[in-house]
Formats: sequence, structure tokens, C-alpha cells
Amino acid sequence: MKRIVTADLSGEAREIAEALNARLDAVASSEKEQQQFIADVSHELRTPLTVMRGSLEVALEEDRPAEEYREAIGNALLEVRHLTRLSQNLLFLARGHAGRVTLSFANADLGKFISEVTRDLLPAVADKGLELLVDLPEESARTFIDADRMQQVIHNLLENAIRYTNPGGRIHVRLSSTPGEARIEISDTGIGIPEQHLPFVFERFFRTDRARRAHPGGSGLGLSIVRWIVDAHKGKVEVSSRVGEGTTFTITLPLVT
Ligand code: ADP
Repeated sequence: MKRIVTADLSGEAREIAEALNARLDAVASSEKEQQQFIADVSHELRTPLTVMRGSLEVALEEDRPAEEYREAIGNALLEVRHLTRLSQNLLFLARGHAGRVTLSFANADLGKFISEVTRDLLPAVADKGLELLVDLPEESARTFIDADRMQQVIHNLLENAIRYTNPGGRIHVRLSSTPGEARIEISDTGIGIPEQHLPFVFERFFRTDRARRAHPGGSGLGLSIVRWIVDAHKGKVEVSSRVGEGTTFTITLPLVT
């Protein structure tokens, strides 16, 4: 896209030309972002579709025992589940960015809320041979939350902690409050995130190579969703990590005053 040459302009004409150029820059960069997004989505769709196609084609090549058909269908079903999750997450983010997700906030006791939503994940924690510690303060911490969305946040973070921590490890959920703010920390003793990758973990489709190996079914959208929801609550989410030692995600939310 061409830009207006402003060198020979002055006064109001120059201001208008500069404003137009800035607008053109913004359009170009949002177009670029959109093209990148489409390329990323196509890439994410290709892998499960290729796996599914291969598995079904091999199954159909010749007559096989029922057990092999069952295995092929089972593999295809895993990929279908992955694609379903991917499309649900994409739809959520697309609607969120278009301003079409409405949140319904209600005054809630965060301690009670956390103890309820962490309970759902106890079976997954036990299956992986991990320990879960939930540390809640005596006094209540009241915030305005959309409980379904905030549950999605805690679940996404805990599912990651479970996924990226080896058996025998520990996950620690801790709630505390300072005047005006509640803090939820979710720490694990897992594989950690290399320092150079930390600035990118909340970006759509970002996954470390180690995470790809540890969990090929992931899509790199979970943390983008976490950030979108926390932002919509006027809160903040941050990450700190050390490779081989573990990772901590910290959410801060405004307290009801
Ligand atoms: P997914 O888990 O589907 O890959 P996410 O958006 O939830 O996508 O996470 C993005 C990436 O951040 C992961 O692929 C992984 O590299 C890294 N990550 C997130 N949580 C953790 C964690 N608790 N421990 C180590 N790495 C993590």
C-alpha cells in the first residue's frame, strides 16, 4: 500500500496526511495479522486431518480383523475430538475479539469458588500420580466474576500444570489478598518454560517443542483464552518459570470494595 509523501506538506495538510498514513499502517498490520492467523489455523487443521486420513485409508486397503478396524476408528475419533476442541476454542476467541461474548458478573467468594473448581480436577491429578495442594486464606476474598468463564481459566491453567508435570510432582493453588486485590497462584514442579519463550506463551498457537512432544493433542489456544477472560475481568495474568523446576501463573483480580 502506498503512503502520502508528507515532506513537502505543512500545517493542517501535513496533519491530515500523517493521520491517513497511520490509518493505512494500522490496516496493513491488521491484514498481516489476519493472514498469519489463517495460515496458523490451516496448519493446525492439517495435522489431525492427515493423521485421520492415513489411519482410515490403511484400514480400508484390505480386509482386516475387527480389532484393527476398532483401533483405526479409535484413532480417528481422537483426532475428531481434537478438531472439535480446536474449533470451540477458535470460535470463543473470534467471538471474544469481535466483542460478542457477554459475561455475567456476580459477587463471589473466591476461596469457595476455587475449592469447588479445583475439586473437578482431582481425578486427573490422581491419574497422573501428582499431588494437589490448595491453600486458601481464613478471611473471605470477594470479587465480581463470571463463574463459568473463571472456571475455564482455572481449569485451563490446572490442565496445563497436570499435562506438563511428571508423575511424582506437585501442583500448588494459593489464594491471597492485598488491600484491593486478590491473587491466585497456580504453581507446578513440571518441565518449565525456557526464558526466551515466556513472552509468547499467551499468544495464539504458541507451543514449545517440549510441550508438543509431551502433549501432541494441544493447540496452543488455552492461554490466549485465559488472558482474554482475565482481561475481561479487569485483572492481570503473569507467568514465571524455570526449566526443569516448574512454572507459576499468577492472576490478580480487583476485590469488591
Ligand atoms: P496447549 O497446552 O494446548 O499447548 P496453551 O495455550 O494452554 O496451549 O499453552 C501454550 C504453551 O505454554 C504450551 O504449549 C507450553 O509450551 C506452555 N505451557 C503452558 N503451561 C505450562 C506449564 N504449566 N508448564 C510448562 N509449560 C507450559
